Amino acid sequence: MASKIESSEYTELNRVISWFVVLRWIAFAGVAATLLAVRLLKLYDLPYALLFAITGLLGLLNLSFAAWLALGGRGVPSRRQTAGFFHAQIVCDFALLFLLVYFTGFLENPFCYFFVFHILLTAFIFSSRVVYAYVGALVALIAGAFLAEYLRLIPHFQLWSSSTGSYLSQNLPRAAGLISLLLISAYLIISIKRRLEEKGQRIEVELDRYRNLDKIKSNFILQVTHELRGPIAAVSGYHEMLLRGIGGQCPPKTLDIVRKANHRTDNLLTIIDEMIDYAYMKSQEEVRPVRSRLPLRGVIEENLELLETQAQAKQITLAANCPKDLWVPATRDLLKIILGNLVHNAIKYSPPGSRISVTAQVEGPEVHILVRDEGFGIEPEELEKIFEEFYRTRAARQLERDGTGLGLPIVKRAVESLAGRITVYSELGKGSTFHIFLPALEAKDEQDPDHR
Ligand code: ADP
Repeated sequence: MASKIESSEYTELNRVISWFVVLRWIAFAGVAATLLAVRLLKLYDLPYALLFAITGLLGLLNLSFAAWLALGGRGVPSRRQTAGFFHAQIVCDFALLFLLVYFTGFLENPFCYFFVFHILLTAFIFSSRVVYAYVGALVALIAGAFLAEYLRLIPHFQLWSSSTGSYLSQNLPRAAGLISLLLISAYLIISIKRRLEEKGQRIEVELDRYRNLDKIKSNFILQVTHELRGPIAAVSGYHEMLLRGIGGQCPPKTLDIVRKANHRTDNLLTIIDEMIDYAYMKSQEEVRPVRSRLPLRGVIEENLELLETQAQAKQITLAANCPKDLWVPATRDLLKIILGNLVHNAIKYSPPGSRISVTAQVEGPEVHILVRDEGFGIEPEELEKIFEEFYRTRAARQLERDGTGLGLPIVKRAVESLAGRITVYSELGKGSTFHIFLPALEAKDEQDPDHR
């Protein structure tokens, strides 16, 4: 029986079982309160002691289910155990509901329609074969009890006395109605479920197709941008040569034009680098980077050095503050992508003469890296959006024409692939702080974090 649970639904089971336990407590309270009220009001002549005993059994069973769940949570119960446990609950629920209904008038009791509710819950969890097996057993039980009552093999506990018609004329339509309702509901819910599953499978196939197309697109961008980078870097190099006077002195006006052209090619190179990083991160989405133990201070200094010229052009001071012996489990490429993009942005969105600092420290199980600037800041309502692909704030678009809106999404992906997270705090007109949390090295990682 246990193996009949559909594997896609198995992971849901534990959550559903706790939900069932809660539902059963509600049912227990409802039944107990109804019985108590009916007894106090002396509405019906029923075997109350027996009914209270059955209700007590329901409470006890639910208590044991809740205890099993609590104990099972400590060790992971096997698929078979969980499935068996679930079947036990369903069988107990059916049996107790049947007994409660049987001793309170059986087909005369409108609560016998609660079986439909049970069938719906069963269909929600199990495969169609199991549901039909349960419905079959239930239908056989109802038909059997009806026949046994009719043949007076078992007593009929009358809920109300009706003078019109025989047992058969009163209860046959009720039995037929209940049985057809059970069969129709099982059939409907199973068909709906099957349709939803088919739709889910179609969506999965489509998603896979889109993921493949996305990969092809990323690889294409990676190839094209790599091809573009070489010639543009060469043009930039020639501009540098002209500016340095290699190849002869140029008139000041020509130099000015070359400087502007150089500035634009540098911007173009930055955009291409962002696109290369973006395509690279996309192509690595499902690949877990092999991290090694890196000296953070050295990596921060290397990256600040690369951006020093850019900062100097705006008289911006770059400062680093990181303990010498701070090591992080990361890859040099990913740290370069993270720090490079954040410091580059800080320079881009800060006024001349301001200060940018990169500080790092260990706090508990995490390494905190903060990139602070005194730039124009980000509107609070835009803070959420800046990590979205291609998003650029209104202010940034007015201030800086060049930009792809890809830098921060790349940073976010890079941080997450190092098992970290990133947040941002910003005050308009005062500056922004990007806060990266990376897992710190554990004692057992001292040699190499990914070769345990
Ligand atoms: P862009 O290419 O526009 O710089 P990013 O993805 O790197 O793209 O950044 C997204 C947006 O976040 C930017 O357009 C800018 O509005 C905002 N932003 C990023 N860093 C800063 C910063 N240090 N100060 C102010 N705004 C920033």
